[in-house]
Amino acid sequence: MISVEEALDRVLSYVHTLDSEEKPIMDCLGQVLDEDVHSPIVVPPLDNAAMDGYAVRAEDTAGAAASSPVYLEVIGEVRAGAIAEREVVPGTAYRIMTGAPLPPGADSIVRFEDTNEHIQSGQHLARIGVFCQVPPGHDVRRAEEDIARGQLVLNRGTTVRPQEVGVLASIGKAKARVIRRPVVAVLATGDELVEVEQPLPEGKIYNSNSFSIAAQVLRYGGIPRSLGITPDRIESIVDKVKEALDADMLITSGGVSLGDYDLVKDVLAEQGEISFWTVRMKPGKPLAFGAIQGVPHLGLPGNPVSSMVTFELFARPAILKMMGKTNLSKPSVWAVLENSAENTDGRRVFARAIVRKEDDRYLARLTGPQGSGILTSLARANGLAIVPEDVERLNAGDAVQVLMLDWSEE
Ligand code: AMP
Ligand code: MG
Repeated sequence: MISVEEALDRVLSYVHTLDSEEKPIMDCLGQVLDEDVHSPIVVPPLDNAAMDGYAVRAEDTAGAAASSPVYLEVIGEVRAGAIAEREVVPGTAYRIMTGAPLPPGADSIVRFEDTNEHIQSGQHLARIGVFCQVPPGHDVRRAEEDIARGQLVLNRGTTVRPQEVGVLASIGKAKARVIRRPVVAVLATGDELVEVEQPLPEGKIYNSNSFSIAAQVLRYGGIPRSLGITPDRIESIVDKVKEALDADMLITSGGVSLGDYDLVKDVLAEQGEISFWTVRMKPGKPLAFGAIQGVPHLGLPGNPVSSMVTFELFARPAILKMMGKTNLSKPSVWAVLENSAENTDGRRVFARAIVRKEDDRYLARLTGPQGSGILTSLARANGLAIVPEDVERLNAGDAVQVLMLDWSEE
């Protein structure tokens, strides 16, 4: 049995960052840029109004106050997207809307609120009374204040979030080069399994693992390819595994324990090579990892909770690494445990827990029975509370580290 850290090291040393693809920026969300992005344009392209009001020469407003307004002749109006036709010469002003380029001659904006326009209930005036003195550049957004021409705006290695999509669009870049998403083949093994659309014969159970695993693949950015179910027969498993040989990774569920029909690890040993089998953790002790013809194969245990927990610990970082991400660890918090948690046999325990914030600290409560078949208790949880290998028992009030299943990370 190897430690969780060693198992993760072995998985990560086997998977590599994938090649890249160019695609529409909307499709890049969550992927990692594989190019340095320089801007071909200036953003914003021209000095423009940050507020609705009047474009003026700042020096014309000297001494203006509500009690002694300065009056300026209004010589035109310019809206966003248009260009002013006349120059603002001393004693004149241009009515201007937010985003409209500043007319030549003007160097600042006086907001409508600081003029007599609103007092005149929005009537367009030939002369405007200015109620305050403004410095040059007041309420003006400078050309180039966001991006200069040729500037490096996004670095290779950046994960594309909505704001990066926006930045790419703002420089007129419709496509970007990103590291592609891994295709992950998902195969459920077990004579007892029935597909969800089918009636449930006596003695059978629905194949839920294919769904939870595929959903986890999707959640962390991969492309799941379901290979369905295979019965516990060597030839049948081998046939299915062949369908995964053009994928970036194969994830199977079930068939890695010690039972007579646990054949997945035998197939892995026969068709490829096993790197490890069994990890010092609970749930999820039987966990096989190796490679079949160069395709990394993670053989998750069949119990639904074990399968999902081992996915979080090993498949998730592998997928993230293939996608070019560098932060592979799950976010965690230290919390005060509200009930006790036990570790009976020296394995690291990942107990399903609900974490909540109270005042300035986190509290963690286990979600009841921890049987590895009780999937609803994982549905109730938002974290996995860790009882270390060398700790037999954590009591209520003890500090506990919790890996957060839900966090503002995706
Ligand atoms: P195994 O690891 O193959 O011994 O499976 C352990 C247990 O996990 C089985 O007895 C089933 O109860 C359950 N199980 C295995 N595969 C699945 C699956 N695809 N969906 C739901 N439960 C499963
Ligand atoms: Mg089985």
